[in-house]
Amino acid sequence: MDDHSRPRALATEAVHAGRDDLAGLGLHAPPIDLSTTYPSADSRAEAARVDAFAAHGVLDDGPPVYARLGNPTVARFETALARLEGTDTAVAFASGMAALTAVLLARLGAGLRHVVAVRPLYGCSDHLLTAGALGSEVTWVDAAGIADAIRPDTGLVMVESPANPTLAEVDLRAVAHACGSVPLLVDNTFATPVLQRPLDSGARLVLHSATKYLGGHGDVLGGVVACDELFARELRKVRFATGGVLHPLAGYLLLRGLSTLPVRVRAASATAAELARRLTADPRVTRVHYPRIGGAMVAFEVAGDPHAVIAGVELITPAVSLGSVDSLIQHPASISHRVVAADDRRAAGVSDRLLRLSAGLEDVEDLWADLDRALGAEGRGRHDVRRPALSAVRPARTADGPPPASRRVAR
Ligand SMILES: *Cc1c(COP(=O)(O)O)cnc(C)c1O
Repeated sequence: MDDHSRPRALATEAVHAGRDDLAGLGLHAPPIDLSTTYPSADSRAEAARVDAFAAHGVLDDGPPVYARLGNPTVARFETALARLEGTDTAVAFASGMAALTAVLLARLGAGLRHVVAVRPLYGCSDHLLTAGALGSEVTWVDAAGIADAIRPDTGLVMVESPANPTLAEVDLRAVAHACGSVPLLVDNTFATPVLQRPLDSGARLVLHSATKYLGGHGDVLGGVVACDELFARELRKVRFATGGVLHPLAGYLLLRGLSTLPVRVRAASATAAELARRLTADPRVTRVHYPRIGGAMVAFEVAGDPHAVIAGVELITPAVSLGSVDSLIQHPASISHRVVAADDRRAAGVSDRLLRLSAGLEDVEDLWADLDRALGAEGRGRHDVRRPALSAVRPARTADGPPPASRRVAR
């Protein structure tokens, strides 16, 4: 914490949070501490510190004893993300799924095994809850049904907004109100704190797959939960017991990723909004999903074969995941949401013709040319329809005005 009374803006925090002590250390870049263990000649003192951690999930000042209890480089990332989300603290994990697992185990540890959740969620989150492999039990509801689904043993309410992969949004303030005293977990992976801070709407836990926008370059796997200190203590104890720790190199890369997060998210969001606009006006596309809140993700349903579009892109990478500097496209029914039973998937609004595009930092005209070609290849391949060249149709596509009734932007 610093002693500034005026809160710093997000863009400032993004480049300075977690680095406040560096100048005093005579450093500019954060140091990477790869130690797995830390020497101490005083084993009585170590015993007291281990006891304190086991009881309260906090270490007093001093080295972490052993790397599964904590790591200074990872702690910098946790501090920085907490500052961006406006929470007391944050606890980092090896992946987004490890982070969600720790939340569920922390609640089970408190004797609260029931979870209320709203679909859609990321496919593996859905699967983890549905399978109940950790001993939890889920009740799926729509947002309006949350209050009625809460039981005495409900330990968690979970939503994603905008949700993976349909970009469906829920009213977080209304949802938080419906939760009463049950902690609300919001998966904020898609929005990032640049577009939405769920704590301000009443969420207690904010989860990220840090693999996505926080890292931002497709080269680091991580997860994090931003929350109050009380809940963080439970999460640190679970992390110590189960071992899903974030590697210090990953912590370094995630901290570095945060520094460009606001710039990346704003630039990619402008591109995504423009692509959503052009897709909405395109007859080869039957429905476009682009959230009210904005963001760098676009989902759209195609009239033809979605697999042909995936096979047809050249600039855009046909790959699962999202939030990288380069654009990615995937077919949720085949990959990200394959583990969700087909009926549940469709009932959650995940059409078999839905494609999910993560806009990167490429030029929008290059991305559109690639999408247009991939959609056109699909059209020609499946239906043998000749498409006019891009230049010939562009004026019609950029014309403003409401889309035909058969095509609409899902809000
Ligand atoms: C990818 C993703 C996850 C899982 O994160 P991993 O880092 O892949 O374990 C969770 N939630 C959302 C919304 C995601 O997109």
